[in-house]
Amino acid sequence: MKHPDAIVIGAGIVGASCAERLSADGQRVLVLEAEVVGSGATAAGMGHVVVMDDNEAEFALTRYARQLWLECAHQLPAAAEWEPVGTLWVAADDEELDAARGKCAFYRSQGCRADLLSAQDLYRAEPKLRPGLAGGLLVHDDAVTYPPPVAAWLLERARNRGAEVRTGVRVQALEGGTLRLMNGDSLQAGLVVVAAGAASLRLIPGLPLQPRKGHLAITDRAPGFVHHQLVELGYLKSAHGSALESVAFNVQPRATGQLLIGSSRQFGQTGAEIHHALLSRMLQRAIDYLPGLADLSILRTWTGFRAATPDKLPLIGPAPDREQVWLATGHEGLGITTSLATGQILADLVAGRTPGIDPTPYAPARFLSAEDERSSIPEAADVHFH
Ligand SMILES: Cc1cc2nc3c(=O)[nH]c(=O)nc-3n(C[C@H](O)[C@H](O)[C@H](O)COP(=O)(O)OP(=O)(O)OC[C@H]3O[C@@H](n4cnc5c(N)ncnc54)[C@H](O)[C@@H]3O)c2cc1C
Repeated sequence: MKHPDAIVIGAGIVGASCAERLSADGQRVLVLEAEVVGSGATAAGMGHVVVMDDNEAEFALTRYARQLWLECAHQLPAAAEWEPVGTLWVAADDEELDAARGKCAFYRSQGCRADLLSAQDLYRAEPKLRPGLAGGLLVHDDAVTYPPPVAAWLLERARNRGAEVRTGVRVQALEGGTLRLMNGDSLQAGLVVVAAGAASLRLIPGLPLQPRKGHLAITDRAPGFVHHQLVELGYLKSAHGSALESVAFNVQPRATGQLLIGSSRQFGQTGAEIHHALLSRMLQRAIDYLPGLADLSILRTWTGFRAATPDKLPLIGPAPDREQVWLATGHEGLGITTSLATGQILADLVAGRTPGIDPTPYAPARFLSAEDERSSIPEAADVHFH
């Protein structure tokens, strides 16, 4: 494509969603991807589509995004392994059950289907959980998916509207609306969308982003071992801590019968290697909740990088001080969930339409004079999820 209207840098699930929505508005879109479609965090992530309520803006975005997922779920290809399993937040003690009660009331007040589970209900739903837990919160319309085929499906829709996707093409530098590629070529467009995940920082130095490393492990097949995405509520207790490194119980049943086990979080790490001590802690945390996991084999372990912002909200909208450049990055541990909403909000803003939710909390301009906030990212380290 010689003269694209828009160039999207990155074909992870967020870039794919932006390309899909922009092409739906009639834009001639060119997508440039350094590796393959759906690599980066999209390949590394857990694929839990979840409504979260740490703050109002996160809730608004995840709820809107989940609604968009539910609207297109029936069109997703089989490879997307869409499974509407719901999220079961596990309460270890009465304090956590109280937190679950509060969450339940909030979700219901906002029209989200949720039920508080007694200990008896919890074991009926998930018999393999360890004895002695207090109960839980079941959020019904959350789901799990395998993100890379979703990115491919979104880009296929964009291609059907004339978009072009070039893989193996790395953007080396960004100067206004001009992109310099690794092979020396230059490209231009009136609109450039930076959707390069944690690597966006290399294209726009100074972005309020930090890579936040995560480990995952997948077991051999154990169909029916668990039935919901299981997550501990315990992270609430340490929500205001300052650890640079943490783990939480987070187990997902895959369509293949395998179990995906998370999660860990580390700041200050840039290498993809496995951190064995942290992985052991993460697995031990999972075994503490599901003792039977100890009898399964781990087939594979890997790491990935979330793009973390200081306030845990993504950057969606025009880049401050850079004409023609828009951002769609900084989705931390919720970028699979919020991908579809990101594409829609970005396209709405580009077209001058009013987005389905207030976009202000995600506007990159909120960090215009936020040097001090940037340095405070680790303060949020214990606010823990995927
Ligand atoms: C361990 C882990 C578990 C997670 N679990 C969940 C979960 O359960 N639910 C959830 O909602 N989210 C989860 N996430 C977060 C989610 O995976 C990410 O937020 C999401 O994938 C971000 O997508 P993206 O498209 O912005 O970035 P990426 O998927 O990283 O895609 C960026 C793309 O840009 C390309 N790129 C980079 N630089 C350049 C360049 N210079 N030129 C061209 N191309 C470039 C990369 O190759 C890559 O393909 C998890 C993340 C991790 C690490």
